[in-house]
Amino acid sequence: MARHTGSVCKLCRREGLKIFLKGERCYTDKCAFERRAYAPGQHGQGRGKVSEYALQLREKQKVKRLYGLMEVQFANTFSKAERIKGVTGINLLALLEKRLDNVVYRLGMASSRREARILVTHGHFLVNGKKVDIPSFTVNVDDVITLREKSRALPMLAESVKAADKRGVPEWLALDTVGLKGTIKRQPEREDITMPITEQLIVELYSK
Ligand code: SF4
Repeated sequence: MARHTGSVCKLCRREGLKIFLKGERCYTDKCAFERRAYAPGQHGQGRGKVSEYALQLREKQKVKRLYGLMEVQFANTFSKAERIKGVTGINLLALLEKRLDNVVYRLGMASSRREARILVTHGHFLVNGKKVDIPSFTVNVDDVITLREKSRALPMLAESVKAADKRGVPEWLALDTVGLKGTIKRQPEREDITMPITEQLIVELYSK
């Protein structure tokens, strides 16, 4: 499935959840979900009985959209989660959290995951001193993510770091706001992911 090119606010309304795709705007009263917290379209306000399959599908779509993945990427991440020892649903969320674009967003060096993906693709970040421009790159404990010296003048980054103070940096990461450097302190745990996600529904969907 191709990447969504329409109004991203409709994705939040469809999933019934703010998934913060528009950066600063998401925290203001201009947020479309704050004004119309129901699904878009003619029947958006009157959904009937929802089947078990529909619930599972919606949960998968929600998480996929939250992290900005395409269908195949998401399915591949799920397969990888299945091969890791432990609980597949939790492994899946940990793998998604450890994507470089998500880490840049979580560190507050971008105002949204979409923006983080663009900044990573444009080569603004180093991992352990080496340029990495792959948004899906998986970080590990003790990795150090740094904004490249020549990228520090970007005004959008200064704004994003300020906005990060509002969001807060999760406990599994550490941010040095002066050196614009982030460190992976430990593996992300289930409690670190505060968005309302029922990962078991996704596991059930892929088990069919
Ligand atoms: Fe979602 Fe942000 Fe749009 Fe609000 S402003 S509906 S949180 S993308």
